[in-house]
Amino acid sequence: MSMTGKKYAVGIDLGGTSIKYALIGEDGEFRSAGKLPSMADISAEAVIGQILQAVAESEKAVKGLCLDGIAGIGIGTPGIVENGTVIGGAENIVGWKDVELARIIREKTGYEVTVENDANMMGLGETLYGAGKGASDVVFITVGTGIGGAVVIGGRLFTGYRGRGTELGHVPILADGEQCACGSRGCLEHYASASALVRSYIERLSGREDGNCHEQIHGRHIMDLCRKGDPLALECLNRHCELLGQGIAGFINIFSPQLVVIGGGLADAGEFYISRVREKAFLHAMPECAVNTEIRGAVLGNRAGCAGAAATVFQSLSDRPEQQTDRS
Ligand SMILES: [Zn+2]
Repeated sequence: MSMTGKKYAVGIDLGGTSIKYALIGEDGEFRSAGKLPSMADISAEAVIGQILQAVAESEKAVKGLCLDGIAGIGIGTPGIVENGTVIGGAENIVGWKDVELARIIREKTGYEVTVENDANMMGLGETLYGAGKGASDVVFITVGTGIGGAVVIGGRLFTGYRGRGTELGHVPILADGEQCACGSRGCLEHYASASALVRSYIERLSGREDGNCHEQIHGRHIMDLCRKGDPLALECLNRHCELLGQGIAGFINIFSPQLVVIGGGLADAGEFYISRVREKAFLHAMPECAVNTEIRGAVLGNRAGCAGAAATVFQSLSDRPEQQTDRS
């Protein structure tokens, strides 16, 4: 019945601004990809409408490419996901709470649907198709406005009981620390995100100059200054790497992964950045725990989320071998 024998899934990466979608093969190959506005500032219904639009676009692509069809739809979404339902924790999407996303999309499209937290999808995508290819035990962290993460054990996402865990950015690293966005204090995210690096640089800069407009400063700008040898920027980067390295050392001591993959804007600077983080992480990790661990930059960029979302479809299909053997 199969023309190519190869399965394809639609991977959807839902964000506060846009919905990225792609038609992806079992081997991680992207056959088509696109982007739609997510309409996250309007309503949950509007967002669901856009997801359905993304599915419709992918169906057109399947026809155009003369492929067999779609094996299922994987969706990565902000927030905490329990059993296909977004429980909450997605402040950047209006009304995105208690949304039975998997059930709704399944009923509207007829496809199998998997839903997971977006950082988890990115981590799984990098593990199976990106920097972690070939590894089974991977810790993924993305360092941007915040710090997100995922833990892959034995090639599968580890999400904690009922999907409520692996908030790797919200590990407290400082007792009596500053207030974090999560409501607690002293979290890794508050001290070691790209935003924290920018914040510390601006604070230090303001101490030296009189308050200029610093609105244009981003993580990338600081990395450029570091490359040029700017002492203040380098000082801030070293402190950032020390803090992030401590956090990663903790993850190494807990999971002893084969690989720690670092994504996000700062990691785009490549080895210039990764080598500094690596040095600090291994300095603080227990050598016995770290002996099998490598630390690398992510390679899939903004494709990781869609790739991981598609991967969860293929994994859920392989969890039900009876369906495949019955048809053959
Ligand atoms: Zn926190």
